[in-house]
Amino acid sequence: MIQLKSPREIEVMAEGGAILGAALVLLRENVRPGITTLELDQIAERFIRDHDGATPAFKGLYGFRGSACISINEEIVHGIPSRKRVLAEGDIVTLDLGVKLGGYFTDSAITVPVGEVDAETQRLLDVTAASLEAGIRAAVVGNHVGDIGYAVQQVVEPEGFSIVRDLVGHGLGLSLHEEPQVPNYGKPRRGATLAAGLTIAIEPMVNVGVPHTRTLSDKWTVVTADGRRSAHFEHTVAVTEDGPRILTARNE
Ligand code: MG
Ligand code: MG
Repeated sequence: MIQLKSPREIEVMAEGGAILGAALVLLRENVRPGITTLELDQIAERFIRDHDGATPAFKGLYGFRGSACISINEEIVHGIPSRKRVLAEGDIVTLDLGVKLGGYFTDSAITVPVGEVDAETQRLLDVTAASLEAGIRAAVVGNHVGDIGYAVQQVVEPEGFSIVRDLVGHGLGLSLHEEPQVPNYGKPRRGATLAAGLTIAIEPMVNVGVPHTRTLSDKWTVVTADGRRSAHFEHTVAVTEDGPRILTARNE
């Protein structure tokens, strides 16, 4: 069942989302060759807990041990922070973070270049970010879930990149994962109707090569089946009468 949120609930989510947005900006500033994914995780956790009542939402959820999911290059999502994983010049790193505040979850991700990246990698980042913006623009009252995925596809596929289908966006609020699922592909006018008060995480995952995935033996890290790179951008968005409102906006 889809649980629509009241304007008051959306304000609480926006408060948590503001902390999340600021945490991602801080993490991005700390991305550099030589830093480990565990160090980034600790920076995120400290920053979030410095805000009264806020907790890193992923920590302990489904047994995950990090505060952030940090995924490098061919890793799509759910990378486990580790002191053994060191960022190198030319890598890309996905920083996926959740905040829980006042009982409500928000969820947001960015993929960041480590130093200088090659032209194709930069295009992957730009296209994935643009596809998220297109998906958000489609999150208006009266549209359907399928309109969001369709909008994402229209940006990604003409560029020759592929969209991950095994993983999708989701409703969220009192839980991190609520109905509806929000795939990054779809047909216009199909799927659940978007109503004011719907809060969803829109999160295109885009691959340079094939769309297929596999999960590593750590049981968490999802990688591309062909080992080529993947990018991921995510915002928590409220559908409102005034249009889509990004609850995890960053001051930048
Ligand atoms: Mg996320
Ligand atoms: Mg999510």
